[in-house]
Amino acid sequence: MTKLLLGAHMSIGGGVHRAIERSCSIECTAMQIFVKNNMQWFAKPLEQAEITAFLQHAQRKQLSAAFAHANYLINLAATNPQFHTNSLRALTEELIRADQLELPFLVLHPGAHLGAGEDAGLEKIIASIDAVHACLPKKTKARLALETTAGQGSCLGCTFEQLATIIENVQEPERLRVCLDTAHVFAAGYDISTEAGTKKMFAEFDRKVGLERLVALHLNDSKTARGSRVDRHEHIGKGKIGPAAFRFIMRDRRFRKIPKVLETPKGKELIEDVENMRTLRELAAE
Ligand code: ZN
Ligand code: FE
Ligand code: FE
Repeated sequence: MTKLLLGAHMSIGGGVHRAIERSCSIECTAMQIFVKNNMQWFAKPLEQAEITAFLQHAQRKQLSAAFAHANYLINLAATNPQFHTNSLRALTEELIRADQLELPFLVLHPGAHLGAGEDAGLEKIIASIDAVHACLPKKTKARLALETTAGQGSCLGCTFEQLATIIENVQEPERLRVCLDTAHVFAAGYDISTEAGTKKMFAEFDRKVGLERLVALHLNDSKTARGSRVDRHEHIGKGKIGPAAFRFIMRDRRFRKIPKVLETPKGKELIEDVENMRTLRELAAE
């Protein structure tokens, strides 16, 4: 039996290498991290010592997959010029940091149009991705992975059509990847409360976006109802989605090599992560 690629979003408090230790302390095989403080636009560049502490960490190899999630301040569709400029710079810097840490991709919420309208927002996101790609050093291997969103407020990326529009219209679509969040697709309206519904959602994802672009799964149950467009994560099996979607994902061979990470509420001791991973492993074994 191949090992499950399962883990959680981990804090980088005390340095990026500390996230490896936290993950390994609860036997994760996959990990998602921010590449700098999530509450700040910018940070001083990573020092070589920090990079080495991460790359050469004795436990690094216990994680089969490690990847990054972008800062929540970034909005590629920002209507305020200063916020937009900051977003482009922050995203470029985070992709470089992810690359320095040899993380294959950085998960990003596409953006919120803030009243400008869906089409204007999507156009701005497309142009912004092109701008970021154009100014990244050529050697950069880290990719952008657009995340499916709940569609809260004016957030874009809550339908597979919107993601497809972005991917089809950027200059270098081959550079984009996608991350699917179960709580977000559910809140956005996709019915994954049953196995049949989950199967159907993935078939639609495959038709419109392409499963070959899928590089990560965020496994979160939802505190909010289907179609609520409100993003509130709940422990696995304890929310409105229920176990069927998670059983399907954990057991479908197409997702075996796709890292699955939790973004569910937790305390410093990580007992909630341990519990949620246990639930997911049980579902995988059913
Ligand atoms: Zn996200
Ligand atoms: Fe997520
Ligand atoms: Fe979320």
